[in-house]
Amino acid sequence: MGSTDLIAAIATPPGRGGIGVVRVSGKNLSSLAVRLIGHIPKPRHASLSRFLDEDGSVIDQGIALYFPAPHSYTGEDVLELQGHGGPAVMNLLLSRCLSAGARLAQPGEFTLRAFLNGKLDLAQAESVADVIDASTSEAARCAMRSLQGEFSTVIHSLVQALTDLRMLVEATLDFPEEETTVLKQANVCGRLEAMQSRLEDVLTSAKQGSLLREGVSVVLVGQPNVGKSSLMNQLAGEETAIVTEIPGTTRDAIREMVEIEGVPFYLTDTAGLRETDDPVEKIGIARARSVIEKADLALLLIDCRLGTVSDDRAIVDSLPAELPVIHVYNKIDLLDGIPQISDGEDGSLIYLSAKTGAGIDLLRRKLLEMAGWQPHSEAEGIFMARHRHMEALTEAGEYLRNATELARQETQLDLLAEELRAAQRRLSSITGEFSADDLLGQIFSRFCIGK
Ligand code: GDP
Ligand code: ZN
Repeated sequence: MGSTDLIAAIATPPGRGGIGVVRVSGKNLSSLAVRLIGHIPKPRHASLSRFLDEDGSVIDQGIALYFPAPHSYTGEDVLELQGHGGPAVMNLLLSRCLSAGARLAQPGEFTLRAFLNGKLDLAQAESVADVIDASTSEAARCAMRSLQGEFSTVIHSLVQALTDLRMLVEATLDFPEEETTVLKQANVCGRLEAMQSRLEDVLTSAKQGSLLREGVSVVLVGQPNVGKSSLMNQLAGEETAIVTEIPGTTRDAIREMVEIEGVPFYLTDTAGLRETDDPVEKIGIARARSVIEKADLALLLIDCRLGTVSDDRAIVDSLPAELPVIHVYNKIDLLDGIPQISDGEDGSLIYLSAKTGAGIDLLRRKLLEMAGWQPHSEAEGIFMARHRHMEALTEAGEYLRNATELARQETQLDLLAEELRAAQRRLSSITGEFSADDLLGQIFSRFCIGK
């Protein structure tokens, strides 16, 4: 951590493309630039250059871009070499950068340097990866908002509000006889409650963002031939699973991403979960089991002509108790009239036809609802939160709750101060400011001289 040596990497994905980019960053890369292209390029100008090998032969010809520190992505000198996007050329160019004094960058090292040099805070640095990893356009847009600092700004303002309150409480610690009046006058309870509700709102938005980021894992279970593969195909809109009329043909867990309102759902068609002696089928069943352990939701498919039978109940009983199950009665196209089925379940019951597509929209809506997705307008701020952020937000909320309780009791201000401090530190950890005691600085800078 914190090194400034020259690092280099191919920045474009492997394979062939029109253009490929090698990026170099470090404290001073002028000598590397001279060796590679014969001169130091004019800052922030695209200059057509020859990329030279050690012996002076030309590896490639392309565009060199030079961003001197501190106005670059990493905050260091950065050189970008845009050449022809073939793996052989790119590897030659990278090797040349290494022989000219750079070392191979580690994963995320450019962004790590950007963070260490104050170009991004921690939450923004994380959203760089989220933009790249986003599997739907909604998720990408959401991550981009975090990268632009929308999430960090909200966290900063919460931290600031906490800091103000801490200053007040800690200043009062020196004058115990005034404790209760100060608490009342400053409406500490009210401010804490307001802060708690803001934190709740942030957490709600963060949960939505995490749905976009992590997606929802759904398993399809049911007896052989009820239409699991067909439903999977219908939802995915293409032929992924094998559909046949022989029970037990789905021998492997097939996974497919289906986007519903921008939320990625990862559907897995499981092998028919039944007792079998077929060794291949046994392996499939074992895999299905492990997928089920990690699932967020299960779709139990039932042939609506037969209704729920004991085999279906056995499947439900074999699922983890806390796994929510949507009961899907399939093949309604084969029924005349309304199906007469009631199994005393909650509202998570859908009738459809995987063959004709009738009722599929109902299922899509049900999936969104069960996943906890709230319909929202484009402009509303959803934060691309990570597990780390949610944990920090949740824990900070607990500290705030404790603090509110203590403030109501109007005693033990030192404990109250401690809870506030813990909440502030927890929130600051999201953006990565380890404010050991920059608080002191804030307190004293606001006092007038002589007080
Ligand atoms: P799986 O074993 O549960 O994966 O079932 P499949 O998807 O392989 O389907 C078994 C058979 O049922 C195939 O012949 C499908 O064409 C048929 N099937 C599946 N869903 C429907 C449906 O909604 N209506 C009708 N009529 N046939 C269906
Ligand atoms: Zn199948």
